[in-house]
Amino acid sequence: MKYYSVTGTDNNSEFYYMNDEFLKHCPKCGLIYNREEATALSVSRFRVKKKHYTLSHCWDGPMIVSERFVAAYVKHGLKGLGFVKIPQSPGFYLLRALNVLRYDYARNPRLFMKDQCEECGQWYEVSLANPPRVVPEDEARMEAGAFYRTDLESGEKVERTPMLLATDPIPRLFRESGIKDVYFDYPEEIG
Ligand SMILES: [Zn+2]
Repeated sequence: MKYYSVTGTDNNSEFYYMNDEFLKHCPKCGLIYNREEATALSVSRFRVKKKHYTLSHCWDGPMIVSERFVAAYVKHGLKGLGFVKIPQSPGFYLLRALNVLRYDYARNPRLFMKDQCEECGQWYEVSLANPPRVVPEDEARMEAGAFYRTDLESGEKVERTPMLLATDPIPRLFRESGIKDVYFDYPEEIG
């Protein structure tokens, strides 16, 4: 099954990082260890600043989609995503990727991971994670018309984000729906 990494545009916002009272930091390394919880708690406060993007990324990781994205997803019966309404910005949703696949470390010799914390287990930096290939056993389970996320999250102190993946024929379906600002990358293997 051919699959792609899916990206959008930087929306120039933080989703949860500014809400100090929601954040729990590891006492040893200082990294946030409750990002899922902080994201959920921040949904009601978040406001979309840049409203013309179909898919956009916050500085701290969460992805936001517009009604246009959801309409294409529903129309074509696609799988693997959940959409959480953003109350202060009607027509926009926090994107949730429901199915997690294991990142294949063996197929990316460039991946850079620095300083794993003994206390919380997080790496202080994870970068150069492209191309996001997943282990062969998980590739065999991928279905057509579905979205997935990697278990590996890349980023540093502020941003942490898994990679969003999509299988064929999603790039074609989005193109036919006239969506031009959701990018599907099919990275070459590096070796
Ligand atoms: Zn730590």
